[in-house]
Amino acid sequence: MAGVRLEGIVKKFGKTVALKGIDLEIRDGEAVVLLGPSGCGKTTTLRIVAGLERPDEGRVYFDGRDVTRLPPKDRNVAMVFQSYALWPHMRVFDNIAFPLKIKRVPRGEVVRRVRWAAELLEIDHLLDRYPHQLSGGQQQRVAVARAIVTEPEVLLMDESLSNLDAILRIKMRSEIKKLQKRLGVTMIYVTHDQVEAMVIGDRVVVMNFGEIQQVGTPSEVYHRPANTFVATFIGSPQMNILRGRIAGGRLEVLGGVVEGVGLPDGEVLVGVRPEDVKLGRGDLTFEAHVDFVEDLGSDSVVHLKATTGDVVVAKLTEGEPPSPGSRVVAGVYREKIHIFDRERGRALA
Ligand code: ATP
Repeated sequence: MAGVRLEGIVKKFGKTVALKGIDLEIRDGEAVVLLGPSGCGKTTTLRIVAGLERPDEGRVYFDGRDVTRLPPKDRNVAMVFQSYALWPHMRVFDNIAFPLKIKRVPRGEVVRRVRWAAELLEIDHLLDRYPHQLSGGQQQRVAVARAIVTEPEVLLMDESLSNLDAILRIKMRSEIKKLQKRLGVTMIYVTHDQVEAMVIGDRVVVMNFGEIQQVGTPSEVYHRPANTFVATFIGSPQMNILRGRIAGGRLEVLGGVVEGVGLPDGEVLVGVRPEDVKLGRGDLTFEAHVDFVEDLGSDSVVHLKATTGDVVVAKLTEGEPPSPGSRVVAGVYREKIHIFDRERGRALA
């Protein structure tokens, strides 16, 4: 296994700067997820680790070894693509065996390793089938088996679950995580799905416009977002971002006041997650009109219009939701309030 280090990676495609100086250290045996919107540079980062793309600047290290100029075949990485890329004319056995044959592994060893990978992925009963005779989920398992069969130091997965239906996706994401831990392989996983990122990643790397916005555990990026981009990208429904003001150590927002905020005077942005808005009083209390209610069964998403005109989305998990058109008092506790600077959106508290 190997730790991976990216140092100052810049990648341009013509005038597009896909990566603007990526620094990232991934520990041996760690699962790191690159998360961000379409076009933010996730796949390009992965392809640079694989050696499928050369950076314009910067270096890639595996366990301290500079591999920046090594071709993919000399890197001991395996990649699972979104499209699985199985060979249609080969049976499952031969698909999985393919990377071993390229490495000229002896026949007996090939059979042993294919069986090992197929058993791990629970597809050992499918070895004689062709890809078109498999379900999407089974094809996905074959693609993963083919990736791990060479026992790579680094496993790369690019949106590998996105072709599966919702239920299978949820099942596979925890299986991938279990498999990664069982093998102890270093994994870099790309997705734009924040829930998938939180489930699979020991750490999550949130990217936007070719830059890393934050690196942290799932809990860190959720509870202590570094800026408004991370704050609104992670969590569903999105964090409410409101205009507020600090004056004399008090935060004024939504027509209410929070005392004892140790920040300098000025205009700020205030972030509150829908799940942290409660009915009743809090450290911040505000009055609102109930605009509409989405009843989701186990919980409800309530759109509140505060007396200041601000719209606040609340996710309520307890009790009956308020009825549309009614007036309510809502509150948020101090420790659930995020404060960002107004100009650049960086977290202040
Ligand atoms: P998605 O989630 O849509 O796959 P991504 O975050 O993986 O997006 P990349 O595929 O890494 O993003 O692309 C980053 C930027 O680089 C985008 O602006 C993209 O258009 C551009 N880009 C990527 N590959 C090429 C290429 N071969 N030629 C030109 N531009 C490219």
